[in-house]
Amino acid sequence: AGARLLIDTVLAQRRHLLSEMESKALLAAFRIPVTGTLQARSAHEAMMIAAQLGYPVALKLDSHSGVHKSDVDGVLLNLPDALAVRDGFERLLRQVQQAAPGLRDIGVTVQPMAATRHARELHIGLIHEPPFGPVIVFGAGGTMVELIDDCAMELPPLNRFLARQLIERARVAATLGPWRGAPAIQMEALEALLMRVSEMACELPQLREMDINPVLADDQGLVAVDARIVLA
Ligand code: ADP
Ligand code: MG
Repeated sequence: AGARLLIDTVLAQRRHLLSEMESKALLAAFRIPVTGTLQARSAHEAMMIAAQLGYPVALKLDSHSGVHKSDVDGVLLNLPDALAVRDGFERLLRQVQQAAPGLRDIGVTVQPMAATRHARELHIGLIHEPPFGPVIVFGAGGTMVELIDDCAMELPPLNRFLARQLIERARVAATLGPWRGAPAIQMEALEALLMRVSEMACELPQLREMDINPVLADDQGLVAVDARIVLA
């Protein structure tokens, strides 16, 4: 019910692109783990939020425009303390305005840094492919996702077996067991996440496109640190 309310609210504003924060709210409604992302209207607010989340934090551009935040210098990672957050707030807005002078209504969000030492970066998506309807996409993620071009696909609904097969068809699967000194990721958690995405595809016909990139996965579990949803 929360998910539908959120979708109706956005559509009532005649928008189809959800911000990162809105996209994550939708994921969280389907019990997909996300890094909690909060809007800060000032450097002071950013500091107050960061203090409660715990350091280090990331600051990101908050926008409904659908730009890739790193393309417009809109991501600051690993800010260790209040001073870095205060300075980072102004710096982020300045560098985004410089990189994308046309961008309107830009804001800032704060979120905790996810542990990345052993993390594999994955992307999980939903696209519409006529004549099939929604298709679930899985592969290697990160900011170079287009270059890496690792996309395995399957039609929803997914059960655990189909989710497992989808994972194994992607090239990134080779890195999910013990790999370069890192322990194997929690495969059951990844299968569960794919099944929840499948649930979203089945229950929310308004979902036109979804891009969860990256999901960081390691032996402790997994978490979506960025998401972008487009409504039909
Ligand atoms: P973009 O809109 O450019 O895709 P992202 O939010 O995905 O921006 O951030 C870019 C990269 O920064 C991600 O691919 C990931 O490697 C890293 N990153 C972003 N948020 C976090 C976070 N909360 N914890 C750890 N790494 C992060
Ligand atoms: Mg991203």
